[in-house]
Amino acid sequence: MAWLLVCPLVASDRTACPAPAPRNVAVVIGNYASVPNPVLAEAQAEVERILTPVGLRIEWRQHRLTSAANENLNARATASLAIQLLSPAMEARLRRPTKGEVGIAFGSTAYVFCGRLDQLAQRALSDSRSVLLGNVLAHEIAHLLLGPGAHASGGIMQPHWGASELRRLEQGGLTLLSPQIDRLRCAAP
Ligand SMILES: [Zn+2]
Repeated sequence: MAWLLVCPLVASDRTACPAPAPRNVAVVIGNYASVPNPVLAEAQAEVERILTPVGLRIEWRQHRLTSAANENLNARATASLAIQLLSPAMEARLRRPTKGEVGIAFGSTAYVFCGRLDQLAQRALSDSRSVLLGNVLAHEIAHLLLGPGAHASGGIMQPHWGASELRRLEQGGLTLLSPQIDRLRCAAP
């Protein structure tokens, strides 16, 4: 079964460029699905494992940081994104997602449907809820940074993840391909 992950599908045309200094990206997590902290921490570590080598330095933010702490993080970050982890009840109130979607991204905010994610993890993976969540988060962060045309025919930016992609994901083998890496490194803050 294919699982649709997200997405705007407008072509984009950018050229490759040399790797600049690491790019700071602030990501605010809204954990409305009550994902346990250890699972979320493992998922965040998985995101960093995937995105740090391509030049992204993720700064995780919480919703209830003091204004001074948020200002400090904002000053360092070159991009500020939000990811909402939605519960099954919240998902049910949305017109979207369409069947099979685990996440969607608009503008600077992405939404992850944790009920569907948990079902997929239980059905298709051995014990990798946090790894699946981390890969979905990395996919959505790339969407938010790349904008339209972020999907690829291989790697973590494939729009559909089937059994083979999930096996590779468990083994740490889903990564960004060079065209996406070039675009992430070249994209304006
Ligand atoms: Zn996608």
